[in-house]
Amino acid sequence: MAWDFSTEPEFQEKLDWVADFCKNEIEPLDLVFPYAVRLKRNPKVRALVEPLQQQVKDQGLWAVFLDKELGGPGFGQLKLALLNEILGRYASAPAIFGCQAPDTGNMEMLAAYGTEEQKERWLKPLMNQEIWSAYSMTEPQGGSDPNLFKTHAVRDGDEWVINGEKWFTSAGRAADIIFVMCTNGMFIVPRDTPGVEIQPYPSTHNWIKYNDVRVPLDHLLGPEDGAKVLAQRRLGGGRIHHAMRTIAQCKLAFDMMCERALSRESHGKVIAEHQMVQQAIAESYAEINMLRLLVLWTAWTIDNSSTQEARTQIAATKFTMAKVLREVSFRALHIFGSLGTTNLTPLQSMYASAPTMGIADGVDEVHKVTVARNVLKEYRPHDGIFPTEFLPAKRAAAREKFAPLFAEDPELEQIADAMAQYTSSRG
Ligand SMILES: Cc1cc2nc3c(=O)[nH]c(=O)nc-3n(C[C@H](O)[C@H](O)[C@H](O)COP(=O)(O)OP(=O)(O)OC[C@H]3O[C@@H](n4cnc5c(N)ncnc54)[C@H](O)[C@@H]3O)c2cc1C
Repeated sequence: MAWDFSTEPEFQEKLDWVADFCKNEIEPLDLVFPYAVRLKRNPKVRALVEPLQQQVKDQGLWAVFLDKELGGPGFGQLKLALLNEILGRYASAPAIFGCQAPDTGNMEMLAAYGTEEQKERWLKPLMNQEIWSAYSMTEPQGGSDPNLFKTHAVRDGDEWVINGEKWFTSAGRAADIIFVMCTNGMFIVPRDTPGVEIQPYPSTHNWIKYNDVRVPLDHLLGPEDGAKVLAQRRLGGGRIHHAMRTIAQCKLAFDMMCERALSRESHGKVIAEHQMVQQAIAESYAEINMLRLLVLWTAWTIDNSSTQEARTQIAATKFTMAKVLREVSFRALHIFGSLGTTNLTPLQSMYASAPTMGIADGVDEVHKVTVARNVLKEYRPHDGIFPTEFLPAKRAAAREKFAPLFAEDPELEQIADAMAQYTSSRG
């Protein structure tokens, strides 16, 4: 029997270590030095971050998303999901564990499509957080439809010359290298290359103009014209990792909701005894577990086939996570009353992040279209005007099966007739 929801004891020990480490070491760092992991040039802050990262490495948990031959532990997606369910609760945890976005997706592309020289040059320093990266795909005139993208590279002797504009490149300003999706390929562009012009706004997710940006030929990643395939691979992984971490956020909101419901009184009883509060708790419990099972099943499918094979499931997790986060964080915020509307708990920013989750990595609508289209490939239209499950036709066909028996036993046929009459009289 292969369906098994248990975690092997050795891995559970790792998960327990991670949970303690995050609670006791990462959470205090997050609260006092919230941007510590990004300040790689401040020695005092590095002295706080690096010993924690060393502990993670000593546990064999560094770069948990990568295969063994690329320097990660090679856990696969299912174990990664169980880990991310813990890490997603703490803002700095992914960087302390060497698995922070957007570097993870970029590293996955490099690992899958990079030449040995490219891996040596960019993958290793990215893994060691010696450099940071960003991903430039969306353009100002449109994000959901890649056919609207215009950024293009033209070959000129030993160089590619890139021209175009990109919108919402997360952490582009702080990146050392930017993966730029062009209509004719994916290029790796050092941020300080002349012609890379980062616009003053938005501040975190950058608008970047690429004006006659020249890069050597070996800065093309993967095949020429292969950008869409690389992007698909990158985003597929990224989406499921986001979903894993979203479970952690939902659970945090849920834990807070339950604690508060037991701690507050109104109209003569603790609010946990009011049925509408119970409804909020019960629905949240069911929705979080539905999301969790969907994510774990998707992770398992990737481990047992590929990201491409699991694309319908990944698309389903993508819009489901945004919905569950929205519903659960809203209920938690509501149960917190006025306190929930302040920034004195994580709930307000958690609820505010729900719409973002429905847009980043592709808007919900596009993923719903993917799911519906792929699911419909398994179906065919029915013959004639009635559907396959049209009961009169099915009953008539089923009677054919019993015809030899009825020929031998007319009494049996009478019983069938009586049952048919009774069924039709019930409408
Ligand atoms: C937090 C965050 C981080 C991001 N980081 C990056 C990054 O690092 N690099 C990068 O390149 N991009 C990044 N993005 C951009 C992201 O990929 C785009 O926002 C996304 O693809 C949607 O594109 P858009 O914003 O242009 O919206 P649009 O494509 O204009 O869509 C707007 C709305 O139109 C409707 N719509 C669009 N298409 C359809 C359809 N087919 N069917 C039905 N309705 C539709 C939907 O209501 C949708 O919400 C990030 C976005 C966010 C929010």
